[in-house]
Amino acid sequence: MIAQRVREGAAAMGLALGEEAAGRFARYYDLLVEGNARMNLTTVLEPEEAVDRHFLDSLAPVALGMIPEGATVVDVGTGAGFPGLPLLISRPDLRLTLVDALAKRLNFLRGVLDALGLEAEIVHMRAEDFSRRVEYREAFDLAVARAVAPVSPLMEYLLPCVRKGGVALCWKGPEGEREAQDARKAIFLLGGKARPAVEYAVPNRDWRHTLLAVDKVASTPKSYPRKAGTPSKSPL
Ligand code: SAM
Repeated sequence: MIAQRVREGAAAMGLALGEEAAGRFARYYDLLVEGNARMNLTTVLEPEEAVDRHFLDSLAPVALGMIPEGATVVDVGTGAGFPGLPLLISRPDLRLTLVDALAKRLNFLRGVLDALGLEAEIVHMRAEDFSRRVEYREAFDLAVARAVAPVSPLMEYLLPCVRKGGVALCWKGPEGEREAQDARKAIFLLGGKARPAVEYAVPNRDWRHTLLAVDKVASTPKSYPRKAGTPSKSPL
């Protein structure tokens, strides 16, 4: 059921998923159910909603052609693996790094990657510390995040680790464009330039979700991100 729904949903979004990818989504779903019995991974586990809310929603930018071939991608605040793992399942050409402040969820993700035969780097760190590390600073083609923070702190997490010419991409609700307007100053200070938010549809749902892409047009000043906790307590 999972494999079929994810395949049909992706096809309706204009994305052809092979059998291997569909099988990996089904296995991932089983592991989420199993893992959720041991720890808090997600409140959405009813099969149809999990496919739509977690898998298909994560795949929106792939369907929209927003992810370049072979890109280095970091998913900040990945939680139970969204959107990073669905991106990798659908696009094994990507080089993925998964970051979260919660070790338990990352251990779960290590097991999922092994079970699916996929590779990704896993980093247990707060976003504010991650993008200060020299090896991750301005290193990624793409930094993505879903359901992690409002746009201003989120950009302070994401833009410092995006290379110039790369993109920070976040999944937002219907107010993506307004949130981006409110965070104009932060985006500018961090070296970004927002594109107009793009509304996308998840098949069979009337959700009004948006993708907010911010181009990295200038280097992020060394003073950002500020120390852990500050971006969300005192947004730029
Ligand atoms: N992105 C996933 C999704 O869409 O289902 C998880 C969303 S969950 C609501 C937020 C996740 O972001 C949690 O796993 C939390 O530990 C992580 N997180 C929040 N702030 C963070 C920070 N400053 N650094 C690293 N991880 C953070």
